[in-house]
Amino acid sequence: MSFKDVLGHSRPIELLKRAIKNEKLAHSYLFLGNEGIGKKWVALQFAKTLNCLEGGAEKGDSCDHCLSCKKIDDQLHPDVLVIEPEGQMIKADQVRQMQKDLAYRPYEGQHRVCILTAADRMAPNMSNILLKTLEEPPLHTVIILLASHPRLLLPTILSRCQPIRFNPLPIPLISTWLIDQKGFDEKEAHLLASLSEGSAGKALEIQEEIRQIPREELLTDLLGLKSLSIEKMESWAESLPSHRENLILILEVAKTLLRDLVVVKAVKDSKKLIHSDLLEDVEKTAVDWSLPSLLNRMEVLHQTTLAIRANANTKLALEAMMLSWAEG
Ligand SMILES: [Zn+2]
Repeated sequence: MSFKDVLGHSRPIELLKRAIKNEKLAHSYLFLGNEGIGKKWVALQFAKTLNCLEGGAEKGDSCDHCLSCKKIDDQLHPDVLVIEPEGQMIKADQVRQMQKDLAYRPYEGQHRVCILTAADRMAPNMSNILLKTLEEPPLHTVIILLASHPRLLLPTILSRCQPIRFNPLPIPLISTWLIDQKGFDEKEAHLLASLSEGSAGKALEIQEEIRQIPREELLTDLLGLKSLSIEKMESWAESLPSHRENLILILEVAKTLLRDLVVVKAVKDSKKLIHSDLLEDVEKTAVDWSLPSLLNRMEVLHQTTLAIRANANTKLALEAMMLSWAEG
C-alpha cells in the first residue's frame, strides 16, 4: 500500500506530500479524526515515503516494494516506531521506552518516524514526559500523534504539533469500496457505510453485529411500539460481544430505521432508503406515524444515544426514551 491506495483523505495526504517535497517537515504532527478513519494508515504511508529506497521522497509516494517499504509493512523497521495503547491506556513504560529509542540517530533510515496512536489516552503525568520530547525534538525524527478527542490532550502538547484534520469519509465512497474491494453486495454495503460514521474500518468491524441485529423486529416491535421491551433490547445487546457499545449500535440502527420512515413519509422515494431490503415493513410502519412525531422520536433517540455514550445508566436512559416515545 502507498499514498495512492489510501481511501479518501486527499487533503491531509496532499499536505504531507508537499511537506516532503519542499523539505518542510514539522517535528511533530497531530492527526485528528474519528477512530478507525485511516489516520494510522496515512501515518504509515508517510513513514514509508520518507524512508523509501526507490526515491519515494522525490516522487512524493513510496514504491511499496523496496526493502525499507517491506520492513515498515511488516513492522520490522527499526526506525519506525508504532506505539499502541496496552489495554485502554498508553502506559508509562511505553513513553519512557520511546524517549530512550529517540535518543539515538536512526539506524538505517533517513528519518525516524514515531507514531503514537491514541495519544488522547495517556495519563496526565505521561503527557508531561511526552511534552519534553516535543519541546526538544530529536534530530531526524518526526513524531505523529493520533487522536480522536483533542480536548483530552494538554494545550501545551496541542501547541507543539502541526494539526492535520481527517474528516469522515463520504458514505458513497465507503459503499463503493465495500463493493469493489471487499465483495459486499450493494444493499449490505450501503447499510454498513451508512452506519460507519465515515470510517471504512468501522464499516468492516460492525458487519457481524449488524447481521445479528434483528432489524425487522427492531422496526416492527420497537419503532412500531407494539411491545415496549427494554429487556428485549438489552438481551440483544448482551448476546453481542461488547454490551454498551452494541447497545449504542442497536440505537444507531434504530435511528437509521426512523430516518427511513421519514424518507418514505416525506419524500416517498424508496430508492433513498438505507434499509431498502425492508421496504415493505418500512412502508407499513410509516402509515402509523405523523412526520412531527417521527422527527421528535429521532431527536429523543439521538439524545439517549449521547447519554449512553457519556456513561449514563443504560436501563434508566432507555426507560426514559420509551416513556417519551409513548407520549408521542
Ligand atoms: Zn520503497
